[in-house]
Amino acid sequence: MATNGGNGAPNYNGRAYPIEDHTYDVIVVGAGGSGLRAVVGCSEAGLKTACITKVFPTRSHTVAAQGGISASLGNMGEDDWRWHMYDTVKGADWLGDQDSIEYLCRNAPAAVYELEHWGVPFSRLENGKIYQRPFGGMTTHYGKGTAQRTAAAADRTGHAILHTLYGAALKHQAEFFIEYFALDLIMDDEGRCRGVIALKLDDGTLHRFRGHTTILATGGYGRAYFSCTSAHTCTGDGGAMALRAGLPLQDMEFVQFHPTGIYGSGCLITEGSRGEGGYLTNSEGERFMERYAPSAKDLASRDVVSRAMTIEIREGRGVGAKKDHIFLHLDHLDPKVLAERLPGISESARIFAGVDVTREPIPVIPTVHYNMGGIATNYHGEALTKRDGNDDSIIPGLMALGEAGCVSVHGANRLGSNSLIDLVVFGRAAGLRCAETIKPNERQPDLPKDSADKALSRLDHLRHANGGTPTAVLRARMQDVMQTNCAVFRTGEVLEEGSKKIHEVVAGLPDIKVTDRSLIWNTDLIETLEFDNLIAQAVVTMDSAVNRKESRGAHAREDFPDRDDKNWMTHSLAWLDPKSFKVTLDSRPVHTYTMTNDIAYIEPKARVY
Ligand SMILES: Cc1cc2nc3c(=O)[nH]c(=O)nc-3n(C[C@H](O)[C@H](O)[C@H](O)COP(=O)(O)OP(=O)(O)OC[C@H]3O[C@@H](n4cnc5c(N)ncnc54)[C@H](O)[C@@H]3O)c2cc1C
Repeated sequence: MATNGGNGAPNYNGRAYPIEDHTYDVIVVGAGGSGLRAVVGCSEAGLKTACITKVFPTRSHTVAAQGGISASLGNMGEDDWRWHMYDTVKGADWLGDQDSIEYLCRNAPAAVYELEHWGVPFSRLENGKIYQRPFGGMTTHYGKGTAQRTAAAADRTGHAILHTLYGAALKHQAEFFIEYFALDLIMDDEGRCRGVIALKLDDGTLHRFRGHTTILATGGYGRAYFSCTSAHTCTGDGGAMALRAGLPLQDMEFVQFHPTGIYGSGCLITEGSRGEGGYLTNSEGERFMERYAPSAKDLASRDVVSRAMTIEIREGRGVGAKKDHIFLHLDHLDPKVLAERLPGISESARIFAGVDVTREPIPVIPTVHYNMGGIATNYHGEALTKRDGNDDSIIPGLMALGEAGCVSVHGANRLGSNSLIDLVVFGRAAGLRCAETIKPNERQPDLPKDSADKALSRLDHLRHANGGTPTAVLRARMQDVMQTNCAVFRTGEVLEEGSKKIHEVVAGLPDIKVTDRSLIWNTDLIETLEFDNLIAQAVVTMDSAVNRKESRGAHAREDFPDRDDKNWMTHSLAWLDPKSFKVTLDSRPVHTYTMTNDIAYIEPKARVY
């Protein structure tokens, strides 16, 4: 029970939690590519901007992005943003919002040139132009040719972009709150978001940030799975905050498996390696992708390649002692190309698989890589819900970006190199929207008296959890269920079992044990808060997957093998009751219109590569 201590500090079970207050025009939670681009835009517009991040900005997960960023620059041959749009709509298996996709592809070239001018050291051609490599699903002339559309800084593109964006953000007046862990959103009675509550990790103090707009740019929740390419920090904290605030998450059943995670470690080998000429083989030495995708072959869309690999393994043509993985060959490529364009993955293969890529193939397996689902937004980054029959009601004061958001350009399946461009195009759009809608330093109403109660009561509860099951045990159970029951191929039976099992993990929550009660550098507590965030999203992912009775993009149901546009060309929305973990499902229509007359709505058709 919360009471108010004499000094105004909320009090739980006799324990006081003094709070320091901060007021900003805009609060950005997250300092990955999307958060930093929004920080630059907001602070450039003269808005007083705070950026809260649980890790040092340049350690955000964007740093790990390898292969590149897509934009129709046309440096390697003809290209057009309309072809990029067509590829993205098709890659998304017609679940993407076409107005957002138009916004993305039309603005992509300018966003890449902006990064170049800010200092990203892109790989170059002899003529000085930015080098671009082929990537899966990227074509010219609406599917007829192969596009070279992915700009790269060798295979360390995310590293280069993140460091450049942080430099750009530091030039402006934004204030960084580094190693602050955001706990929960502050919502008022009218359903407006008014800010966040955060815990400062190095001294255990609590902070209440008030803002006209809060932007969640907290990344994905890959760590809900056992084998993933994401960092330990990818725990989807923003998505879980939205769920606890009574808001829905969209399209959570769509989880992307990347075809080439290193067998055993999950570490990523970029699709750029196939873009440079790498190919996959089975135990018979066959380049099997020629059978599954006769035109695009190894550069078909990720869901297509992951499924083909899984079928090869299932049918006994996997490699290795257990015949449970596939080989990726780069050994035929010129060692100079490997050294210049793929130095990072050559090193990863050596460290994580003991393989010299100039001589041997890399053992690989489909590995969880990207969350297409998240907080629904429009192309300005404004968070959406469904209220009073309106499918696109805006949640005042809340925006979401990057992997935490679902502006729905990736729909049911993201094309490789389309995430980095999503971060900067929509990060910029959010900054523009804030500049349009917020007057710098305009007075903000007082916060509700109980504004910190929910966040602090959860913190107090988990901090003093004294059951018999360590967090790590529950987390391992969750990851095992997700890996086994919500994987590349799905059936109703396996998903139903997964739903039962994931709710059994939830039933274990009251018995959770946190060993250390301190608020200062307490990794056990932080991992418990993160686990609490992950399990919420694991549950909505599983239950949304049970519900969708068709196959589309990354959601491949063996019992419903076809796409069903009549009944299922809709976005899933999932709400979670934070106490019972009961999921409520609904849907909203896909935007089947474009922004301008420059391109017409792209009609659904079969997705073949
Ligand atoms: C190995 C790998 C390679 C990839 N390569 C490519 C590629 O070549 N091209 C491409 O387009 N995409 C690529 N992707 C995908 C892409 O990198 C990510 O989708 C993207 O970087 C996510 O950026 P983000 O801004 O949404 O979040 P992130 O970069 O994950 O940043 C999240 C931020 O939120 C903060 N945060 C989270 N929770 C809290 C909290 N509770 N309190 C405070 N702060 C919090 C973190 O500190 C961090 O600053 C790759 C992904 C992986 C895993």
